[in-house]
Amino acid sequence: MTANLLDFDLDGLAAFCERLGEKRFRATQLFRWIHQKGAAEFDEMSDLAKSLREKLKSTAEIRALPVLAQHISSDGTIKWLFDVGGGNAIETVFIPEEDRGTLCISSQAGCAVSCRFCSTGHQGFSRNLTVAEIISQLWFAEHFLRKHLSKSDRIISNVVMMGMGEPLQNYSALVPALRVMLNDHAYGLSRRRVTVSTSGVVPMIDRLGQDCPVALAVSLHASNDALRDDLVPLNKKYPIADLLQACKRYLHVAPRDFVTFEYCMLKGVNDTAAHANEIVKLVRLHGEHGAWCKFNLIPFNPFPESGLIRSDTAAVIAFAKILSDSGIVTTIRKTRGSDIDAACGQLAGDVNDRTDIHNRMTKRRIIPIRDVDRPVAVDKEDTVNDC
Ligand code: SF4
Repeated sequence: MTANLLDFDLDGLAAFCERLGEKRFRATQLFRWIHQKGAAEFDEMSDLAKSLREKLKSTAEIRALPVLAQHISSDGTIKWLFDVGGGNAIETVFIPEEDRGTLCISSQAGCAVSCRFCSTGHQGFSRNLTVAEIISQLWFAEHFLRKHLSKSDRIISNVVMMGMGEPLQNYSALVPALRVMLNDHAYGLSRRRVTVSTSGVVPMIDRLGQDCPVALAVSLHASNDALRDDLVPLNKKYPIADLLQACKRYLHVAPRDFVTFEYCMLKGVNDTAAHANEIVKLVRLHGEHGAWCKFNLIPFNPFPESGLIRSDTAAVIAFAKILSDSGIVTTIRKTRGSDIDAACGQLAGDVNDRTDIHNRMTKRRIIPIRDVDRPVAVDKEDTVNDC
């Protein structure tokens, strides 16, 4: 069977090369060609011996996901829909900001967690993505952007696993994919700039801390168990107290000294002063001054099946004020495409503007789409984020 080399972290690729009778340094060379240079054909790999290239051609391929559609928002945010077969598509979103370029990646086709406020949750679960399908999103986005912006510098500086799916329920593919993102011979992202967002799979938070500690975001969305049982059904298995304790344990190994809590603001459901005060109590119970976490308040993107309504702006601001006044760092995500990055805005802005990405993304909007494997539809519209 032909191996897809996007499925391998460096150790996996070294093992594959060994099976071909090749030394480990060949795997490193190959890894760089694939991930740093975006090579999709072995003939491009000029410093590999011809005999090795021929061997690779008969045993392996570099197979990225086909692009079904591409949407560009007025502020430069790009959403790609990728075909994962069986009638399923996943989405990936690139959010340019002045000091960083963030890619939001999916980990599953659909999601089994069924959060009430999430359109992905309402679609049900199809399957886990493979390592190749997770990494393919980064591989495609990074090299597509470089090619069309005519740049050789790295463009994507941050990755957030906040697209479709619960990443910690696809753990065996998640960890090798994270290792590719972090590897200096591939994308070389720092652990602080790779974030896994979870709805609260407590045992896997602990495992992630042991196996590959990156920044952690948690979809909290409720201030007490009764409410969270309804909004995030996984809470029945892993209630809030257990979840917050797991977060505190994670901080012993995390690359950042805080956990980000995502909180989708739902009118009359979780957005009152009483809820905000409950949050303050919860946070203090687990750390006196609230400095161990940050809150990101997310205006709800309404969809009919949810039966939920977006909180009024005044309610969101009042909620944020209660949290801030108690010492909890709190941000509000804006709804426009470019401001989706504020959701990941907890990925603090300590990157220099070495890529001048905003200007280039503005130019990007008028670059014709070509050189992708299949023609893509290009719409200018605001992106919709599932989570
Ligand atoms: S919010 Fe995340 S965990 Fe919940 S249903 Fe949506 S994709 Fe799944």
